[in-house]
Amino acid sequence: MASTQITVHLWTERNPRAKVPLHVDFANLRSEPEATQAFTKRWGPIQTPAGDGEEALFLIRDMLRSDWRGERGTKESRRHLGPIIHAFSASIGVTAERIEIELGQVWQTAFLLCIRDRLRGKTAICENPECPAPYFLRKRKTQKFCEAGPCKNYGARQRRKKWRDAHGNEWRSARKQR
Ligand SMILES: [Zn+2]
Repeated sequence: MASTQITVHLWTERNPRAKVPLHVDFANLRSEPEATQAFTKRWGPIQTPAGDGEEALFLIRDMLRSDWRGERGTKESRRHLGPIIHAFSASIGVTAERIEIELGQVWQTAFLLCIRDRLRGKTAICENPECPAPYFLRKRKTQKFCEAGPCKNYGARQRRKKWRDAHGNEWRSARKQR
């Protein structure tokens, strides 16, 4: 069966104030009124199938988080799209180079981006328990901490501690002998 491969560009950069990609921003959304206000300022009003209030927004965010963690299954991403593209509406633009799709709802775009990055093995959760925005896209398969300074430092301390626990005794007794 022949198929035509096309590349789709989801248009999400509506607001230059957004410092991180939409799906990262959404996954890290805190359950505070100020946070949701800032979020909708960056990305526009959010209408979800559960409504447009804060509760509904957090419900969708929690679904996104479980998808981020891979709890919704990794091989069945096609089936995931069912509820996500329910009542699908989009504006579509075509140029010689590419096809651009802007979904009617911001949260739908966030899900598509999340699923794509999870299938690429890039969705990760920062292991610093104090991390204020733990959902991040890792650059290396083994990356356990996000790019924030305090988290990198925390990671370095953990690695040093691990090394000391494993080799500390040998090192100390080697020093005593000298
Ligand atoms: Zn972090």
